[in-house]
Amino acid sequence: MKTWDAIIVGAGVVGLSLGNELSKRGMRVHLVERGEPGRESTHAAAGMLAYGDHEGHHQLDSLKLASAKIYPEFVREVEDASGMRVDFRREGTISFFAAGGAPACSFRELTSDALAALEPAVSYIAMSGGKPGRVVLTPEETIDNRALAQALLKTARHRQIDVSTGAEATSLIEQGGRAAGVRTSRTGLRAPIVVNCAGAWAGQFAPFSLPVVPRKGHALTVVTSNRSLLTHAVRGHDVYLVPRSDGRIIIGATVEDAGYDKRVDPAAIQRLHQCAANLVPEIGELRMNEAWAGLRPATADTLPVLGPWGLPGSFIATAHFRNGILLAPITARVMAQLITGEKPECSISAFSPERFAPNAA
Ligand SMILES: Cc1cc2nc3c(=O)[nH]c(=O)nc-3n(C[C@H](O)[C@H](O)[C@H](O)COP(=O)(O)OP(=O)(O)OC[C@H]3O[C@@H](n4cnc5c(N)ncnc54)[C@H](O)[C@@H]3O)c2cc1C
Repeated sequence: MKTWDAIIVGAGVVGLSLGNELSKRGMRVHLVERGEPGRESTHAAAGMLAYGDHEGHHQLDSLKLASAKIYPEFVREVEDASGMRVDFRREGTISFFAAGGAPACSFRELTSDALAALEPAVSYIAMSGGKPGRVVLTPEETIDNRALAQALLKTARHRQIDVSTGAEATSLIEQGGRAAGVRTSRTGLRAPIVVNCAGAWAGQFAPFSLPVVPRKGHALTVVTSNRSLLTHAVRGHDVYLVPRSDGRIIIGATVEDAGYDKRVDPAAIQRLHQCAANLVPEIGELRMNEAWAGLRPATADTLPVLGPWGLPGSFIATAHFRNGILLAPITARVMAQLITGEKPECSISAFSPERFAPNAA
């Protein structure tokens, strides 16, 4: 019977990144994906690396900055290994911060003239939605998250990682009080390490339930033949715009509690499109080429869940909420360090699943 060193449940950006990181450390990995790799929340994202956006929790701010720091190397590795390009754009991000707010990274404050010089199509007034505050330019990059998922998958295959699709992991196999593999709807797979990276569904993987819930997000894309319409990512008061190098502009996003319902509500899409058109009037004239909704994995405290979970040999890495694309590289690193017995390079104590234990303070 074939066995592996680690089984990862879920081939989104988190599971794929971790699979590659473990494989780099010489481990034989099997990724179990019930649908298609990279097609859930990872597919729905806009691809901002919003490490300048304060989350109000210092360990999360540090984790975001640590991930941003290794992102260029992560991109170079995955592009080299896959031979694919992931549209890593380093033009920077223009953001509105309400009065008293400031980015968690270096920034330059922009007057309306300075904004007009950088992005002539963007309305300074609409950035703020009429609220007092400041408009700033930060170095925050963006990436084509869909291309990234495909490149990570190709890298995984290149590294001889087994990726099974179309069968769901249903429960953990336990032997001698330790994790020993997973049961899927098709078969049993054996490994002494099991990592739950099942995104918004992570809390449903038996036998250890955790309060990970879906937070729905609508988004849409318009396409322009005028590549200079928008160069930077723009985060306004109530909408953000993320240009891709091929002329698409991603417009996002709502945050909703709608359970596991991924249906697209035309009214929500219309509202986002209108907010984007307020920010950049030309966007109102552009053809919408796609609208979608996805489910961000989240917990009530909006912090990720990273660490050992349940039985020896069993781990979880999920609930990255609005920052899973940004946090994938550092998550892969710290989880691989934890799994191989090294000290994680960043403190992850605030993200421990133990905070949901019945006797936790
Ligand atoms: C509209 C929107 C915009 C966003 N924008 C950004 C952004 O700009 N920047 C950013 O950093 N983040 C953004 N995010 C958040 C980001 O998309 C997520 O945090 C991230 O994709 C989570 O990745 P994941 O791998 O944990 O989950 P997923 O991508 O959801 O992957 C989980 C995988 O597990 C599989 N699975 C589940 N259960 C099982 C099972 N039992 N057996 C086998 N497989 C299973 C699923 O099929 C899925 O493929 C956005 C999200 C949304 C919805």
